[in-house]
Amino acid sequence: MSNCVFCDILAGRAPSSVVFADEQCHAFMDIQPVNPGHVLVIPNDHAASLAELDVETGAHLFRVAQRLAGALRESGLQCEGIDLFLADGQAAGQEVFHVHLHVIPRFKGDGFGFRFGPAYGVRPSRAELDRIADRVRGAL
Ligand SMILES: [Zn+2]
Repeated sequence: MSNCVFCDILAGRAPSSVVFADEQCHAFMDIQPVNPGHVLVIPNDHAASLAELDVETGAHLFRVAQRLAGALRESGLQCEGIDLFLADGQAAGQEVFHVHLHVIPRFKGDGFGFRFGPAYGVRPSRAELDRIADRVRGAL
């Protein structure tokens, strides 16, 4: 076994329920689903974080996730909406350090959702937004 459970799945050393696979990615059922139909899309080449992920592969993960979202809506599973979610870094909630894009079927009353922090709802000034935009632009 490697120290990456997703690499173990890709190598066939750990079980998975695959829904899609190609030369760049695999998609399989999350073993701890938020709702039935919760799929993970992962790159075939190990990348612990977005910073390590080839941008074309990243685009491909989204392409496949978009297709899966359509499939989930057509699947007959309870699915009134879809969340795409990617946690990059421990502080963001990443638990397995092999990039994975969640495709989560959602429906009213499913109980899942984001929790907002105490600063949420305090609108920054335009000057503050512009200052922050400058910082991000400068880092591009
Ligand atoms: Zn891995």
